[in-house]
Amino acid sequence: MSQNQQTRSRGSVDQDQFLTILSREDAIERFQAALFPRPLPGELRRLADALGCALAEDVVARIDVPPFDRSNVDGFAVRSADLARAAETSPVRLVLNDEVIACGFAPSRPVLSGTATPIATGGPLPRGADAIVMVEHTQPTGNRSIEVRRAASPGQFVSYAGSDIARGEALLRAGTVIGSREVGMLAACGIAQVQVVRKPRVAVLSTGDELVEPGQALRPAAIYDTNGAIVAAAIDENGGEANFLGAVADNEAALEAAMRQALSGHDMLVLSGGTSKGAGDVSHRIIARLGPPGIIAHGVALKPGKPLCLAVCENKPVVILPGFPTSAMFTFHDMIVPVLRRMAGLPPRTDAKVTAKLPVRIASELGRIEFVMVSLVEGADGLIAYPSGKGSGAITPHVRVPDLVIVGSHCTGLDLVTAPLARAGLTVRSIAVGSLGGLAAAKRGECDLAPIHLFDEKTETYNTPHLGEGLELVPGWRRMQGIVFRKGDKRFEGLDAEAAVRAALADQGCIMVNRNQGAGTRILIDRLLGGARPEGYWNQPRSHNAVAAAVAQCRADWGMTIAPVAHASDLGFIPLAEEHYDFALVTARKNRPVVKAFLDALVSDEARAALVSAGFRPA
Ligand code: AMP
Ligand code: MG
Repeated sequence: MSQNQQTRSRGSVDQDQFLTILSREDAIERFQAALFPRPLPGELRRLADALGCALAEDVVARIDVPPFDRSNVDGFAVRSADLARAAETSPVRLVLNDEVIACGFAPSRPVLSGTATPIATGGPLPRGADAIVMVEHTQPTGNRSIEVRRAASPGQFVSYAGSDIARGEALLRAGTVIGSREVGMLAACGIAQVQVVRKPRVAVLSTGDELVEPGQALRPAAIYDTNGAIVAAAIDENGGEANFLGAVADNEAALEAAMRQALSGHDMLVLSGGTSKGAGDVSHRIIARLGPPGIIAHGVALKPGKPLCLAVCENKPVVILPGFPTSAMFTFHDMIVPVLRRMAGLPPRTDAKVTAKLPVRIASELGRIEFVMVSLVEGADGLIAYPSGKGSGAITPHVRVPDLVIVGSHCTGLDLVTAPLARAGLTVRSIAVGSLGGLAAAKRGECDLAPIHLFDEKTETYNTPHLGEGLELVPGWRRMQGIVFRKGDKRFEGLDAEAAVRAALADQGCIMVNRNQGAGTRILIDRLLGGARPEGYWNQPRSHNAVAAAVAQCRADWGMTIAPVAHASDLGFIPLAEEHYDFALVTARKNRPVVKAFLDALVSDEARAALVSAGFRPA
């Protein structure tokens, strides 16, 4: 987009911000062309502070490592020629010289023919000696001599000076990233400080009236500022030095002041939020006033991440990431990290690439490159990629395949059971896709266990009737289902479930919160309602917690959830029926040690006690 177009679109109504959507490649190319990202100038850093930095220049070894010929064993420094004829049947006797070469001891006496000098591992070879005989291969004879019964080859058990690193050799090349190995090489050469590419100082600002910093209390309708922390951490991970300046309210003047100040003291500015078309989204307008050339791209054909805004002001990159944390992280890693790494002198990131099959269909939009977060699990033939949520929780990429895979209905009790496995160093991935989804995954052999709580109306029993071939039931625990309401609500206090629902139906102003079709809880609700469709019936969230939140926040007056969730939200609770939360175990995976460990943990005293104290009843 030319600057003219930009200016015009900004001058007119807000709605045409995204008139020119660039392809991902175009956006990257224009951004980099406007910026010419290159390594920042070098600075001298002490080794201890240089970890993760890129060397700004070649480092030449000024000494040999080791600096002298060194013994690799405890033994005796000898002349190999003296031992040429030594054998079991013809031992050679050597007279010991009057010194012992310990580490750090500079020998002063030569090893003359027919003599030997005791030497420790790491000790410098004395003059005249050309080999070491291991102490195990010698016999003391009398006070000051030894017998040797095998020949020694020249150079035996000796590391020659410069054999690790040769003086004058290019030890490390410019651009090398300093890790522990490089620190070791530099230290071995006696180098205490190095010229490294200065880390780009990156100012990070979050924007939004709704943001509260972690550690502070969450006020109504507010959310925690996720982007500030995650963007700052990702900057540090990629060679930058993040300076998080906090969250700024959606106030144009305040934001402009904060952005100007941030830009003046830093090499780069990364904002998040305020880039879409919503009211109060002002950051992108401010950029135009920060200096030429200004906005390079605003709107990229990327999903997630469309509202990304890339700008260059006074030769510094200024980036506004989309507000949603998942979108912010995708665009940051995809478009900003390469620039940051180049400024830091670091090579491009090498991400592990694996091929995996999708177990479900994903609809994607034409003309946009779409990234989807997945959890990798081992399938019957190859890796399976389970798309994971797009919420702010979906911000942790893993490439590692876990030891134990649990796919199905989620329950907080599950973490109590898997805790000892995690302590033992096993990785457990539990993927919440609901009972039916878990059952399907188990039937395809994509998980070890599927937690389910499926009521069968015909037999009036839980779970067992739903198992197919290749699956077996492992009893889990019982969860009390019941009606939740705000404590003190006179409509419900002291009633049983049937009476509470009658009371709710009798009150026109009373709003319920339902559950999604297919949930075990939904079946109970529909039975209780007996065909009634009160206000709120169509509000059908997908989790126990969402029901509790709706009631606690007065968006609804009653709903059905499980006791531990109700108690955690300090809600009133009327018990109705116990539901069976069990595991469909994939028989073919039954003998895996990690599965056995899970089954052991499930019936352990520790897990049972933890379940009971969290409000569950172990089966
Ligand atoms: P915006 O682009 O400012 O309209 O933000 C889009 C969405 O992302 C809104 O739901 C914001 O509440 C959310 N959001 C923006 N910034 C942050 C942040 N720093 N942390 C978490 N969520 C955010
Ligand atoms: Mg905002």
